[in-house]
Parts: sequence; structure tokens; C-alpha cells
Amino acid sequence: LFISFEGIDGAGKTTHIESMAAAFRDQGRVVTLTREPGGTPLAEKLRTLVLNDAMDPLTEALLIFAARRDHLLQVIEPALARGEVVLCDRFTDATFAYQGAGRGFDLATLAALEQMVQGRSSPTGQPSLRQPDLTVWFDLDPEVAASRLADARVPDRFESQPVAFFRQVAAGYAQRAAEAPQRFARIDADQSRHQVWQQITRVLVRRGWL
Ligand code: ATP
Ligand code: C5P
Ligand code: MG
Repeated sequence: LFISFEGIDGAGKTTHIESMAAAFRDQGRVVTLTREPGGTPLAEKLRTLVLNDAMDPLTEALLIFAARRDHLLQVIEPALARGEVVLCDRFTDATFAYQGAGRGFDLATLAALEQMVQGRSSPTGQPSLRQPDLTVWFDLDPEVAASRLADARVPDRFESQPVAFFRQVAAGYAQRAAEAPQRFARIDADQSRHQVWQQITRVLVRRGWL
């Protein structure tokens, strides 16, 4: 089982991924909790570069997909092969939302990189992609998210972006969700932690996973 957590900065992903890990572990499942960009020693180095160094959009996209490739091969695919639950704090939808919708990078190029990095050979010869079985999408107004993040920590070069940037990122997530409605579960993140978690558990129960 492969579940990704998506949404703009401050939407509540990291808060709730821990609760989901605990819920699966209570059921005796082995959980791999990981994140992107990052998740391996090499990918974490690439993350540090992407978050701190100025670079052109193509360089940024290539580094993020390079990190993802290493993460998939070293961590995600082996854990799934062992039958574990993989919970990932951001995955490829973030690249479409941030680099694509947010920074205006060409979506067709991102799709080509996605195919290159996540492509799998299938018995039918049809091209298929490694994607999460479920993407929990924390939908939250950027103003609310910004106020939650205020004072929480030192902003990196993306968190210091204006609210307008996060509106574009949010629209990017909405578009990805519309393109894959079966995979996405939209969570109204403008509720208390308890209510947000209740929404998430309902999704898991409906799918028969909890
Ligand atoms: P980022 O993308 O920047 O890592 P995130 O989506 O992981 O953000 P969190 O770090 O989980 O977001 O939450 C941002 C802040 O909002 C934290 O201080 C967290 O404690 C708080 N928070 C999380 N959920 C809620 C909620 N439902 N109501 C109020 N505050 C919340
Ligand atoms: O969610 P997390 O805190 O790990 O994200 C770190 C930073 O990287 C955030 O500011 C986020 O906006 C940014 N990011 C990005 N492009 C991605 C993934 C994350 O700009 N594809
Ligand atoms: Mg987080």
C-alpha cells in the first residue's frame, strides 16, 4: 500500500502522517514513513540543494526527479515488494503543483520526466506509472495555511513566496485531483486536527484498509 500526502505548505501533511503510521502499526502492519524531496541520503542532499540554492526551473525539475528516482529504487519499491505500507510526505503531484502550476514550468516536460522516472513495464506492453494507491490531499486556503505557519519555523526559499504563489500551487493540486479522481481523496483541512483526522480515517475505512 502506497499513500502520499499532498497540499500546500502548512496544510497539515506532516501532522497527520504520523497519526496514520500509528493507525497502521496498531493493526500490525509494517510502515515505512518517508518524504520528498528526500527519503534517501542522496535524495536528502539533492533536497538541500533545491531548497537553498537559486537555479533555473529545468535544473530544479531534474534534481527533484533525480531525487525521486533514487527514493523509488532504494526505499519505496523495496518496501512495497516486502508488503509494507509506504506513507510519503509529498510525491509527484507536488512537482506538478509547485514546479508546474506555481513556477510555470512546462507540464508536458514534467509528464515526460514522470514517465521516465516512474514508468514500469507491464505484461500488456501498455505504459504504466508507479503512482500512490491513494493521495490524501489537504485542501486549505493559503491565507489560513500561512497563518498556521507563521512563527512555526524559518522559511526556506519557497515558504517565503507570496500567498499568490500558493494560490497557483493550490490550483495545480486541484487540477491533478481532477485528472485522477479515484486516486485523490480531498480533505477539508480547514477544521480542527481531530476533525481532519476523522475525515482521513473515513477514507481508509471506506477503502477497507483500516
Ligand atoms: P509543510 O508543507 O510546510 O511541511 P505541512 O502540510 O506538513 O506543511 P504541518 O507542519 O503538519 O503542515 O502543519 C503546519 C502547522 O499547522 C503546524 O504548526 C501544525 O501544528 C499546525 N496544524 C496542523 N493541523 C492543524 C489544524 N487542523 N488546525 C490548526 N493547526 C494545525
Ligand atoms: O513539505 P516539506 O516541508 O518537506 O517541503 C519543503 C519545501 O519544499 C516547501 O517549502 C515546499 O514548498 C517545497 N517544495 C517544492 N517543490 C516540491 C516539493 C516541495 O518547492 N516538489
Ligand atoms: Mg510538512
